[in-house]
Amino acid sequence: MFEHLQEQLRTLSKTTEISVPLEADAEGFLDKECPSETCLFQFKIAEEDWKNIVRDEEVFCPSCGHTAPAQSWFTKEQIDAAKEYALDQITNGINAAMRADAEASKRRAKRNSFISITLEAKGGRDAVLLPVAAAHPMRLKTSCEECECRYSYVGAAYFCPSCGKNSASHTFLQTLETIRTAAGLGSKLRETLGRDEAEVIAQTLLEKAMQDTVMSFQRVSEQLYEHRTGRVAKRNAFQRLGTGSELWEAELGVTYTDILDEEALTQLTIYFQQRHLLAHQQGIVDADYLTRSQDTQYEIGQRLVIRQAEVLRFATLIEKLAKSIMEYCDTK
Ligand SMILES: [Zn+2]
Ligand SMILES: [Zn+2]
Repeated sequence: MFEHLQEQLRTLSKTTEISVPLEADAEGFLDKECPSETCLFQFKIAEEDWKNIVRDEEVFCPSCGHTAPAQSWFTKEQIDAAKEYALDQITNGINAAMRADAEASKRRAKRNSFISITLEAKGGRDAVLLPVAAAHPMRLKTSCEECECRYSYVGAAYFCPSCGKNSASHTFLQTLETIRTAAGLGSKLRETLGRDEAEVIAQTLLEKAMQDTVMSFQRVSEQLYEHRTGRVAKRNAFQRLGTGSELWEAELGVTYTDILDEEALTQLTIYFQQRHLLAHQQGIVDADYLTRSQDTQYEIGQRLVIRQAEVLRFATLIEKLAKSIMEYCDTK
C-alpha cells in the first residue's frame, strides 16, 4: 500500500546533492558576494565570463582583494533561497511535484525587487536594502583591461574578480560619477518609498558616498605611488591628507598646497575628518574631530548631517587633486 512512498524514501535516503538553478539577471549577470566575513561585498559578473574567463581555483573580491575558490562566492540570499528550494524539492518528492518551480520563481521575483548594499560601519558592515529603481543608476559596469571579464558593482571597488588586476586609475573617475549619482538619488527615493524611509536611506547614501570618495582616492593614490616608486605606501597613508602630501613632496616635489588653494584644502580636511567620524564614531562629533578639522559648524556630541552639495563638492575637489597628481606622475 505504501510502495510508492517507500520507494520515494529510498531514493531520498540516497540523495546527497540537489542542484539548484541560479538565474542570471535580465542583463545576463550573476550575483556574487565576497566570502570574507569582514567584507561581504556584493557585485555582479557576466554569466558568460564567469563560465569562460574566471578560474575555478581563484576569484578576487573587487573591493577588498580577498581570494577564494569559485564555489565560495554565493550570496547569502542565494544560499537561503537554495536551502528553501532543496527543502521544497524533498517535500515535493513526497507530496505533489511541480510546486517548487513556481515557488522558486516567486522568490526570485521578490529578491530582485530590492538590492542589498553593504556599508562599512564600526565593527563590521551593515546592509541596506534599496529599491532596484533607485540602485540601478548607481551600478558601475566595467570590464577588465587585462582579461576582459565584465563585472558591475555599487560604490568603490578596484580589483578584477577574474585576474585580480588592480585597476584603480581606470575606475577612479567612473567611481566618482557613481558617487555623484548616488548623492542625487534623494528625490528618486522619495518617489518610490515613504518619506521617512526615503530620508533615512538618502542620508545613508550620502554618508556612504563620503566614505567611497576617500576610499577611491586612497586606492588610486596607492596605485600611482606604487607604480611610480616601486614601493608600497604605508597602510592608510593616503587616508590622511598631511601624510599623503608629504609622500608626494618627497617623490615629486609637489604638495597638496601647490594644487589646491587654502579654502579648498580647508574644506577637504573637514571632509576627510567627517569620513573618519562616519567610519569610526558613527558620525558623532568628538573633541578630536573639532581639533583636526577646525570645523566650526558642530559641537561635541552632535551627529554629522551630510548634504548632497557637500558630497558633490568633495567629489570635485578630490577629482582635481587626483588628476593633478596623475599629471605630475606622467610628466615629472
Ligand atoms: Zn571582499
Ligand atoms: Zn581581469
